[in-house]
Amino acid sequence: MNEKILIVEDNPQNMRLMEMILRAKKYALLKATDGKEALDIVVRERPELVIMDIQLPKMSGYEVTKRLRQMPEFANLPIIALTAYAMKGDEEKFIEAGCDAYLSKPINTRELPELIAAMLERKDNSNQNQVGGGGQIGHTNLGQPSKF
Ligand code: MN
Repeated sequence: MNEKILIVEDNPQNMRLMEMILRAKKYALLKATDGKEALDIVVRERPELVIMDIQLPKMSGYEVTKRLRQMPEFANLPIIALTAYAMKGDEEKFIEAGCDAYLSKPINTRELPELIAAMLERKDNSNQNQVGGGGQIGHTNLGQPSKF
């Protein structure tokens, strides 16, 4: 399955890098370069996962995430926050806003696709659980910066 992934990023270089990494993994990619556009695209296209830069024009990644979490249909949408640098206390902020995981830049070309694959797998498993299949939670080791 070519899962639909929305990349929200206003830095063209980072956008190009993530496109390159994720195209190689055969995902169907959607792109947004500001917070408002991100919100519109999620509602319209219903991606399977969102990579959300936090510092964005028009509306921050936090605000976009909070608004999405207020809509029941996006309550469980996997969202990975991307930050320029992780500071003490940031983790709490990401989680409070409703992000499922975060990565700090510079983008790690191995870590990003691993995290995405693990999160999509976890989502599939929880869907199976909902219909009564005994899905197992994945046990991929994601390294320290990621947090579900
Ligand atoms: Mn940015």
